[in-house]
Amino acid sequence: MRAYVAVGTNLGDRWGHLAHAARALRTEPRVAVLRGSRVFDTAPVGPPQPRYLNAVLELEAELPAPALLEALQRVERTCGRRRTGVRWAARTLDLDLLLLGDQVIRTPELLVPHPGLITRRFVLAPLAELCPDQVVPGTGQTVARLLAAAPPGDVVPIGVYPM
Ligand code: AMP
Repeated sequence: MRAYVAVGTNLGDRWGHLAHAARALRTEPRVAVLRGSRVFDTAPVGPPQPRYLNAVLELEAELPAPALLEALQRVERTCGRRRTGVRWAARTLDLDLLLLGDQVIRTPELLVPHPGLITRRFVLAPLAELCPDQVVPGTGQTVARLLAAAPPGDVVPIGVYPM
């Protein structure tokens, strides 16, 4: 099933973390990394912290949603991420499952489509490069339409994904 994963990083070697994410996901069984969006330099949301690099990876994942979430969390851990419990804290690598086919998942561990997807320009801008015409389940709107309606934001493309 086609999956879209948001990649965010605002600490340490940010370009290295992006490259690590793609490389580490490729080592996961039944996961193929197909494409990456451009990389965007973005203003942080929440408490004062360094600026982020944000991008989206397109995957083909032949495994159930909970197993895919576990794979994403494994990759985050291999990048030195510490779960502090602080919401919106700075992080070396954050991987969020945005879309998984046309599935709607509402469990305590997993919300798909990712709730932040619908309004956040730093997620929608890279996602729209990969799948502008995809309808986001539950909204009836395409990614391109959601991007056009998103609040303005400091979201600037600065390079290609380091694969
Ligand atoms: P965060 O610290 O923002 O990466 O949030 C991580 C938590 O969000 C994890 O405990 C996940 O169980 C939960 N979560 C819910 N929906 C998703 C999603 N679509 N992708 C990634 N994590 C999710």
